[in-house]
Amino acid sequence: MLRHITDKKINRMNHKYHQFESAIEKYQTVSWYKHIQTVLSWVVICAQVLSLIVLIQTYTTPSFVGFIATLICAYLATDFINGLVHMFMDNNTHYTSCFGPLIADFHLHHHKLNYQEKHPIKIYFTESGYKVWLVFYLLILIFLQQTHFLPSNLELGLVAFGILSSFAELSHYWCHQPTTNHGMIRFLQKYRLLLSLEHHRLHHVHDNTHYAFLNGVSNPLLNIIARKYFKGYKNHSDQYVRAYFKQRNVFQT
Ligand SMILES: [Zn+2]
Ligand SMILES: [Zn+2]
Repeated sequence: MLRHITDKKINRMNHKYHQFESAIEKYQTVSWYKHIQTVLSWVVICAQVLSLIVLIQTYTTPSFVGFIATLICAYLATDFINGLVHMFMDNNTHYTSCFGPLIADFHLHHHKLNYQEKHPIKIYFTESGYKVWLVFYLLILIFLQQTHFLPSNLELGLVAFGILSSFAELSHYWCHQPTTNHGMIRFLQKYRLLLSLEHHRLHHVHDNTHYAFLNGVSNPLLNIIARKYFKGYKNHSDQYVRAYFKQRNVFQT
């Protein structure tokens, strides 16, 4: 009986691995996926700029305290919501769906702790293209700005959230570049305004934990949600990534 269950589990894992492998190959060979990612990056950035322009044109400053408090709330909300999306994505193994190749490519992010150095603008641009949900969020935000009266600080918070969601990708990238970062970034990481590698490393070393990647302040709450609703990535997506690289003789660094 036990043998039967184990065989079934292995078969299921092999089946999933082949789905993962074919999704990655699609991502690498079907140019449509890279093109759609570039288009999404442009849509996100144009929508962020447009929402900011509308905000600047309409914003009236009720109070400085309100302004700062709104930005702090937006910062916390960005850390939490983006962490929640990351949690969902790490646990999503629907490789045969139309977004399957993008999901499989996203799952490669656990493979390395040291990232190749790239210009921050390039990271901001490229990573924004993975955020399909952010495209919808920004388009709805612009629609609301055009058609509804939004209280100034609510509009500020919503626009800041839209921009900080891309910036969170930079914070994650910087935490994987601990030796080459500018002193200011290291300072912000030290005081937990940006994500530090010591804190974020737990996401890569352990399972189903520390999903936040703006500064990690919402991780205690995210960890409770993860334990309750998700199984984790070590025995799922990480296994497929490891097997994929093993087959190609690429080892984890
Ligand atoms: Zn992850
Ligand atoms: Zn990471």
